[in-house]
Amino acid sequence: MDELFDLTIIELREMLKKKEITSLELTEYYLGRIGRYDDEIKAYLRPTEEIALTMARQADEKIARGEEAPLLGIPLGIKDILCTKGIETTCASNILKGFVPPYDATVMKKLQDAGYVHLGKLNMDEFAMGSSTENSAFQTTRNPWDTTRIPGGSSGGSAAAVASGLCAASLGTDTGGSIRQPAALCGVIGMKPTYGRVSRYGLIAFASSLDQIGPFSRSVRDCATMLNVIAGYDPMDSTSIPQAVPDYHSFLGKDLKGVRIGIPAEYSIEGIEDDVKKNYEENLQVFKDQGATLVDISLPHTEYAVATYYIICTAEASSNLARYDGVKYGLREDGKDIIDMYKNTRNKGFGQEVKRRIILGTYVLSSGYYDAYYRKAGKVRTLIRQDFDTAFASCDLIVTPVSPTTAFKAGERVEDPLTMYLSDIFTIPVNLAGLPGISIPGGFDGSGLPIGLHIIGKPLEEGPILQAAYVFESVKKLRIVPERLEK
Ligand code: GLN
Repeated sequence: MDELFDLTIIELREMLKKKEITSLELTEYYLGRIGRYDDEIKAYLRPTEEIALTMARQADEKIARGEEAPLLGIPLGIKDILCTKGIETTCASNILKGFVPPYDATVMKKLQDAGYVHLGKLNMDEFAMGSSTENSAFQTTRNPWDTTRIPGGSSGGSAAAVASGLCAASLGTDTGGSIRQPAALCGVIGMKPTYGRVSRYGLIAFASSLDQIGPFSRSVRDCATMLNVIAGYDPMDSTSIPQAVPDYHSFLGKDLKGVRIGIPAEYSIEGIEDDVKKNYEENLQVFKDQGATLVDISLPHTEYAVATYYIICTAEASSNLARYDGVKYGLREDGKDIIDMYKNTRNKGFGQEVKRRIILGTYVLSSGYYDAYYRKAGKVRTLIRQDFDTAFASCDLIVTPVSPTTAFKAGERVEDPLTMYLSDIFTIPVNLAGLPGISIPGGFDGSGLPIGLHIIGKPLEEGPILQAAYVFESVKKLRIVPERLEK
């Protein structure tokens, strides 16, 4: 029973099918681990034990009837940004405390159809704004590899839960790096699919032209399984792409002969840690050894990506977050008139970072500054997208580091938003261009902290990314769950 947390979803499914274990036993096993470790890790905002046990019993009945589904009986954790019918959904914000959605996000319906078991909602930065999970209104999640450090963000709970074996896999969201950066810092797999590949109906919006849902897992195969379940067109999301979803498993096991991997000249930035750089270079050799060709490419507008992102995402956030006014959802703080009530509610309900972004976003959209900031950012975004189009004419995939540093100490960057924003320098361009990207474990630094490797693909080409990731994983065979959490 002790090694269960290290098994892939496919292996667990086999055990369930062969009746070597029941979903109820597996669920109790994960709940046991949550009880044992989560006081320290703080990945879950709310484990939902009763719901988990009920869903597990239902899964067992289906298994007994011989039913099959890709996640039947598999316990998962969910970032608290996805609407779950009847289950509190807070976005880690005081303003949504007590909000119980009357409907399910499309991805939640898809997970249900695939037979998953809901272990609980996972911690995150408030409204997904942050890179350390320290912006949660409720708790700071800890890095399973060193609990004095942060797990990355904003999907820090989703990454930490998978890295510490507190669920079989999880869902997170990525607007500027929030899946890939925490996956890198916690040493797990995290994928941001192409913008439009996964429906965002029922995802609480942060920056609508960038947000995308994706999986965290302990193996590339599990990532493919999760993506098979959640991808696909949805008439409820106007940005979702009406194109058939391939079976992502079919890409696993193909070799890398003839695959051209682009290495961007501009990604060798100041501020990148020596160990991260060294590891990246070693990892490029792994691809070469496996038959891939490395080609030099240029993404000349990279240096503007972070600034562009912080204009676009704050502008969109200021408009998306206008709906939290004390009338429709969650918190309401009374005032002498309605304006006063709005002010009191928003002042009490939002944390500092969220307020900072609303103010910035309102500023860049205001009539005198719209052309200078928001419109200009849109133009630079087009240039960044064109950089990738040009680069992909000479390569099939692009490989870069995920984050310039490994996990930093909790508290270290809280007072320094600019340094915090720079955590996403390698991931943000991918969101601006709407491309798919994955972070896979690449190795460890001198202090034993995980380093991620970033593989970027062409639009809708998640398959070739998974293909390369799978080859890399088979060569490196890295430990995913820290040894001290194995018991
Ligand atoms: N860290 C980035 C930010 O704070 C990205 C967040 C995200 O991808 N949700 O906006």
